[in-house]
Order: sequence, then structure tokens, then C-alpha cells
Amino acid sequence: MPNSAVEIGIPWMKKLITHENPFILANIRELMEQAGIPCSIKNEFASSGSGELPHFDLWPELWILDAQDWGRAQKLLVEINDNSWEEEWTCGYCEEKNANTFDYCWNCRKERFLVEDDKN
Ligand SMILES: [Zn+2]
Repeated sequence: MPNSAVEIGIPWMKKLITHENPFILANIRELMEQAGIPCSIKNEFASSGSGELPHFDLWPELWILDAQDWGRAQKLLVEINDNSWEEEWTCGYCEEKNANTFDYCWNCRKERFLVEDDKN
């Protein structure tokens, strides 16, 4: 496997998480970036058959790009898991289940549908 980190000029990269669903990974990336943690997804299009990858069963991977963010990224991932992974909301458009941290449905990308109390 070629060392792509060197190829694109990034001296340090570390894989944080692998997930079969690229949309869930993209949402985690958004949360990381909101927290100021630079990261990148590899194999994002592995299942689309782009022809560039030798294996089509590769899951997308989320890589942290800066060593100094590694500890924070791990903590944030734990928080994402602890706080919201099990607590799901159901998309009002396609009825797909989403993790609580996601503001957009991973399936249809529509904004989270919330039923709020009237505020008078
Ligand atoms: Zn949806």
C-alpha cells in the first residue's frame, strides 16, 4: 500500500475510526471540524466502484491530520458515541434512523425534522 500521507505532503496522519456508512463518517468529520480538528476521509467512494481502488469491500476511514488533535479527537468520538449513538431520531422524510448528533438525515440529507412545542 503506497504511503499516501507522504504523497500529499502531510507528515502525520492517524486513522480514528472506520465505518461502513460513508454518510455517518461524513457527519463525524463535520463534528470534528466544528471542534477545530482537521480530518480527512479515505476510501469514501470505495463502494462506488471508481476503479481507483483494488478492493471494493474497503470501508471508509476517518483520519486525523494533526498529531496534537489526536487526544481531543478520541475524546470527541467517545462523546459522540456516549451521548447520542444509541439515542436515535427518525427522519420525517424517509423514516431512516439517525444518530442524535446528526443535524441532517444521513440517508436523504434532509434537515432534521423536529416536533417542537409551541412557544406561545
Ligand atoms: Zn431521511
